[in-house]
Amino acid sequence: MKIMYDVKSERAEEFISDAEIRETMAYAEAHKDDRPLIVSILEKARLCKGLTHREAAVLLASGQQDLTEEMFALARDIKQRFYGNRIVMFAPLYLSNYCVNGCVYCPYHAKNKTIRRRKLTQEEIRREVIALQDMGHKRLALETGEDPRNNPIEYVLESIRTIYGIKHKNGAIRRVNVNIAATTVENYRRLKDAGIGTYILFQETYNRTNYELLHPTGPKSDYAYHTEAMDRAMTGGIDDVGIGVLFGLETYRYDFIGLLMHAEHLEARFGVGPHTISVPRLCPADDIDTADFKNCVPDEIFHKIVAVLRIAVPYTGMIVSTRETPASREKVLELGVSQLSGGSRTSVGGYVQEETEENSAQFDVSDRRSLDEVVGWLLDLGYLPSFCTACYREGRTGDRFMSLVKKGQIANCCLPNALLTLKEYLNDYASPATRAKGEAMIARLLETVPGGRVRENARCYLKAIEDGGRD
Ligand code: SAM
Repeated sequence: MKIMYDVKSERAEEFISDAEIRETMAYAEAHKDDRPLIVSILEKARLCKGLTHREAAVLLASGQQDLTEEMFALARDIKQRFYGNRIVMFAPLYLSNYCVNGCVYCPYHAKNKTIRRRKLTQEEIRREVIALQDMGHKRLALETGEDPRNNPIEYVLESIRTIYGIKHKNGAIRRVNVNIAATTVENYRRLKDAGIGTYILFQETYNRTNYELLHPTGPKSDYAYHTEAMDRAMTGGIDDVGIGVLFGLETYRYDFIGLLMHAEHLEARFGVGPHTISVPRLCPADDIDTADFKNCVPDEIFHKIVAVLRIAVPYTGMIVSTRETPASREKVLELGVSQLSGGSRTSVGGYVQEETEENSAQFDVSDRRSLDEVVGWLLDLGYLPSFCTACYREGRTGDRFMSLVKKGQIANCCLPNALLTLKEYLNDYASPATRAKGEAMIARLLETVPGGRVRENARCYLKAIEDGGRD
């Protein structure tokens, strides 16, 4: 990975400047009814080259109904252009909920005595992964609390080796993304060497003062260390990073701008922006009551956030988890989300044994459907659930991936690959009803694969899968 140019300091306070965010908020508020400006920003957005955080903030602040409808229509168009009908599927895997931090919104916080603490052994991880493979998952996001004694980096590395090593029937996990606490360049290098996909870390909030109140104790209380984590991850060679904020902790206007400034900083410094943006909203959990938080984001604002992000960073994948209800997921899929978890359990060990009274879960999930139900639902909505990990396996990550997306070339290989991985899923794991819907979707979309030869190859591979062949 090449370091581009020293546009902005590596210091969090400078690339996420509080003064600049506040000035941008004031500018957006002052221009929220400035129709010519909003129309000109929408014109620029139509070129699909993205927007600055300042322009995006104006769109978010605008309250004019007809212009909001235009924004939503544009978000749908951009989504269709870059992602087509494809929705990438994944599941979280919680390894350990031991945590030494004091985050006031998270039930893992060290002082919580009611949550059941649990850390999976390698054998338990094997069983969890086999349960996930039996559902049809190929892509995981590993999650742990931060606890250098119970969950040291060696534990995470060993768990990754275990997961990649499991071969079971037709299943294999082909991409392990990792969501663990901010760490050193050296540890990021070790994660990279272990073959992780995306390194994911949520900023929670970019507002330093609020961040320090929300994270009163533990290593995560160091705002600068947390905010500079992605710089260290990229310096350590990880070229796909996933950012996000936990909406509900701070005003959404502040964190929306912070998120885009962070993306701009990474693009300027490393030549490639974040691979994904996640949009979690605060949920109730073991000893956490969302009523204690004054900044919870209502649905209509949440939808607008997703739509404006889609317009502002067209090339960045967007992830939504089972924190959202099926109805909310349906809306944001339409407006920009490209990756979805399905059949998720947020408790440690929850795939083998669902939680009963003793709770070890990180948050209460709002979509409790099985993966098969989620896949069937996506097909009903006209989406193409994809279990594809080909880019990662063929080294199309970081700036190589982004330059293909920007040239519109990635779509040519994504559609056939998505069809093949859906075919494998349908043959190996789907219920008869989902299988019938999926076969119909494959038949329909095969005809839209660009290029006669590519389409013929896809047809041959589909036939080979039908006859029992597997990648
Ligand atoms: N320990 C790692 C860290 O500090 O970043 C991994 C984080 S945790 C397993 C994943 C994410 O869950 C957190 O970054 C936070 O944004 C989110 N989270 C914590 N409490 C939550 C809650 N009550 N509702 C929704 N999401 C929550």
